[in-house]
Amino acid sequence: MTRGDEPEVAARRSPSPDAPRGRVELLGVWKSYLEGGRRRTVLRGIDAVFEPGEFVAVLGRSGSGKSTLLNLIAGIDMADDGDVVIGGTTLSALGESARTRLRRRHLGFVFQFFQLIPTLTVGENIGLPLELVGLARDDAERRIEALLERVGLADRRGSFPDALSGGEQQRVAVARAIVHRPAVILADEPTGNLDSRAGASVLSLLRELTLEVGSTVVMATHSRAAARQADRVALIEDGQLRAMDARALPAL
Ligand code: ADP
Ligand code: MG
Repeated sequence: MTRGDEPEVAARRSPSPDAPRGRVELLGVWKSYLEGGRRRTVLRGIDAVFEPGEFVAVLGRSGSGKSTLLNLIAGIDMADDGDVVIGGTTLSALGESARTRLRRRHLGFVFQFFQLIPTLTVGENIGLPLELVGLARDDAERRIEALLERVGLADRRGSFPDALSGGEQQRVAVARAIVHRPAVILADEPTGNLDSRAGASVLSLLRELTLEVGSTVVMATHSRAAARQADRVALIEDGQLRAMDARALPAL
């Protein structure tokens, strides 16, 4: 190899993390847990591709492995076998700190129980992902203001989460998930703790805001009503993921 080859090789080894922004690939993903000395296999060689900008619902009954799947996509947990590739980057090829960086920069999260930080105000909660990626204060301010407006909470900026209803807290969580314009949003039962009206409002905000940013959404749910809001539904059952017709979803 001549010296002249080196930069090209280096460039290939560290592709831009933005390369195919928002594509999520699961390549033969297996996951099991050891439980009281017995191995319990949750995911059995899952293959799937979620395209950039798609809103996909992963529907499955409780214990079917939805959260496990999202944790693997997030790089919070690692597959026993197979690979998860986010925007062209194979998670298992990264060290822990590189995975954390990728997660902070390119992923956003919405959880069933909101998981806002109780000691921070609504505005501070929304701004947290921007602090983690080091966005300039003025830009951060503008984004927080604009999002507060969009989620209908402009007058609650200085409130603490416990002063808000569940639906309001989840709207804050949606704003926090999108504020850094992530390539991918992972939503784990985002309507699981809300009545149907608050749930519908959260889902439509999630849809609108992610459409504007172009984020891919992978939403785990056991709710048919929530799944119907997605572009595409995949059913998780017996460790496998299979495509479903959104008009003929099974009751769980
Ligand atoms: P879902 O989100 O669809 O309800 P989960 O992914 O949380 O399902 O769990 C799938 C299965 O894996 C369950 O049987 C659960 O008990 C098991 N499981 C999940 N996480 C762990 C863990 N950390 N240790 C042991 N078993 C686990
Ligand atoms: Mg779960």
